Amino acid sequence: MKDKEKNNIYFWQESIWAQLTGAWEQQRMPHGLLLAGPAGLGKPRFARELAGFVMCREPSPAQQRCGQCKGCTLMAAGSHPDFRWESVPEDRKTIGIGQAREIVAWMHLTSYLGGYKVVVIDDADLMTREAANSLLKTLEEPAGASLLMLISKRPHGLLATIRSRCQLLRFTRPGHEAALQWLGTQDSSADWPRLLFLANGAPLRALTMYRDGFADTDRQFSADLAGIIDGSTDPVAASAAWAKQPPVVWLEWLQTVVLGLIRARAAGVAKSKECEPVHLIQGAVNINLGRLYHYLDDLVAARQRSERGVLRADLMTAAMLIPWACGLNYRSIYQED
Ligand SMILES: [Zn+2]
Repeated sequence: MKDKEKNNIYFWQESIWAQLTGAWEQQRMPHGLLLAGPAGLGKPRFARELAGFVMCREPSPAQQRCGQCKGCTLMAAGSHPDFRWESVPEDRKTIGIGQAREIVAWMHLTSYLGGYKVVVIDDADLMTREAANSLLKTLEEPAGASLLMLISKRPHGLLATIRSRCQLLRFTRPGHEAALQWLGTQDSSADWPRLLFLANGAPLRALTMYRDGFADTDRQFSADLAGIIDGSTDPVAASAAWAKQPPVVWLEWLQTVVLGLIRARAAGVAKSKECEPVHLIQGAVNINLGRLYHYLDDLVAARQRSERGVLRADLMTAAMLIPWACGLNYRSIYQED
């Protein structure tokens, strides 16, 4: 246990960690790694930990960084000259060619400390095609002792040629019970089954939701939706309140709930533990499966539109809440164009 704490690896990452540190010891560390998987599984922290391990001048045989050498000290201070962390700049939506060229040029510089050069690119699927192409050469002909780590929630958004030149590390959600147990050690008062359901099984996402007070938002959404279904809440009034939240918050919430309802129906109601929290929305469990799928398509379309900023927020919330007043028996506003 102590070793794991020192490396700061989450328990669901242990096998990937062992695989890579094992490869390191046998001097078979790949030049390119693709850390793929949904949000909320701690991929960025894993990348940082692995970089720290690679930068250690005297790692122990137990797959530990020493914590004291120059490499470790510089990494801990966030000032290691052979390490770079790249992400989409705040004022932009993509990683462009300029940024990629800078990374490539930097990787070809001689290492300051004589060891590895390590670059992490977060949200690597947001690289433009030109940026990805310029990075490709570095993956094909690596510059000396270097490691490029790409982090991606949507690896299919990466160029296939980039994907094929990286070793794929698939981060998966831990088992339901194990995740609940771990979350329980973080805080004993939270409704973890509910939050873990809303976080699609990703423990860190559940933890962030809890810390951000999302339980209150969830309660409001659930009460409103139940009220709309049984006719006690006016969907237009509710949609005005919902529109105060960023669209992604309530769109994701609705999507998770609808997927939960679909799963619950498919598995037979109350059969699946993971689906249980969805039954908090009274009246929704009896809605026809075909209508749920139809509505789910609309949610996806609404989300795409909201990302493009096409619709006014309050109109969009109304369009997505009113259908619940008639058991999702409605004509789509999105699927005709
Ligand atoms: Zn060290």
